Amino acid sequence: METLGIYVHIPFCKKKCDYCDFYSVCDLSDRLMDSYLDALIEQIKDYFALYKPTVDTIYIGGGTPSVFGGKRVEKLLKELKSHVQLTNNPEITVEVNPESVDQKLCKRLRSAGVNRVSMGVQSADDGQLKALGRLHDYAGAENAYNLLRKYFDNISLDLIYALEGQSLESWMDSLGKIVSLSPDHISCYCLKVEEGTPLAARGCVQPSEDIQADMYLKAVDFLAQAGYKQYEISNFARNGRISRHNSKYWDLSEYLGLGCGAHSFYGGRRFSFIKDVNAFVSGVLGKQPVAEDVDEVAYISRPGEYVMLKLRTAEGIDPDEFERRFTMSFKTFEQRLEKYIEGGFAKRELGRYSLTPKGFLVSNAIIGDLVNSVCPSGI
Ligand code: SF4
Repeated sequence: METLGIYVHIPFCKKKCDYCDFYSVCDLSDRLMDSYLDALIEQIKDYFALYKPTVDTIYIGGGTPSVFGGKRVEKLLKELKSHVQLTNNPEITVEVNPESVDQKLCKRLRSAGVNRVSMGVQSADDGQLKALGRLHDYAGAENAYNLLRKYFDNISLDLIYALEGQSLESWMDSLGKIVSLSPDHISCYCLKVEEGTPLAARGCVQPSEDIQADMYLKAVDFLAQAGYKQYEISNFARNGRISRHNSKYWDLSEYLGLGCGAHSFYGGRRFSFIKDVNAFVSGVLGKQPVAEDVDEVAYISRPGEYVMLKLRTAEGIDPDEFERRFTMSFKTFEQRLEKYIEGGFAKRELGRYSLTPKGFLVSNAIIGDLVNSVCPSGI
């Protein structure tokens, strides 16, 4: 049975973090958030008026869904549940930030059916958190985690490495503190200084590439020893608690993204909605089109995209599955992969090709080379 994942974007933040280039606004007025909720409900009704899909994952991300408030998230989930067929064991995730977690929110989320929470901690060093423009300190993140633990048995924490002035020791200290909290899932992202952010404007200097590589490889080892299995470049899970929703992105399963700026792979097409909350609300409520970047080329007809996404995962690619899916030989990729196997960047195990942690470090270059060798016109 084909199941669908649903992503809902909540584009509200209390304050923009200095490194963030995601679309979000800091207008937390009830007027705007209520009308945004109305627009989301309208989209749900439009999409599912004639068709009730079977849904196994819902992911409410942002922005900061916890500032949207438990009551609105509850109303949103109620509406979604009445329009789709949820499987017996759905994964329902909400992203939160430490400073907006309280008991009232936890109770509301849990009674609404949320069974997984993902919280941005980013660092255990208060100086680094301040430099990132975060609104919480580490003690605040710990308190929020302990409170969440009373309500949720599946918690993911996000961390960022390669921060300005961060040493290898300081990174491993942050990671050690996070592991000691015993979350079910940990995501470790390398800081990318995006153009147009306050971090770029003040000329942020990151640790050298060698130190960044050490940070990554040491983290992979440390997490493995602590029982966190790597299942994607940046993602690690204990006891099989992988993000089922995010895995859909790498498995080429369909997902529908609702809300301002949300991306979808749905009905064989890729598209996203406009990144302007006011235009989105008036467009949806006024029955005007709000989609942009519609890609009519069937996603499934792109072997390069498949290779690109699957090589992000630890399970990698099964050549037989590739050939069945695309009716095209995997041989050219295989020949190219051999040189990466020789260099220790890739491996072949139980008939599947995947990148090693050393390969994950330079995955963009490897994937680019593989894809160009087979599909010179692009993916
Ligand atoms: S809370 Fe998240 S989405 Fe909001 S500004 Fe910070 S990093 Fe960006």
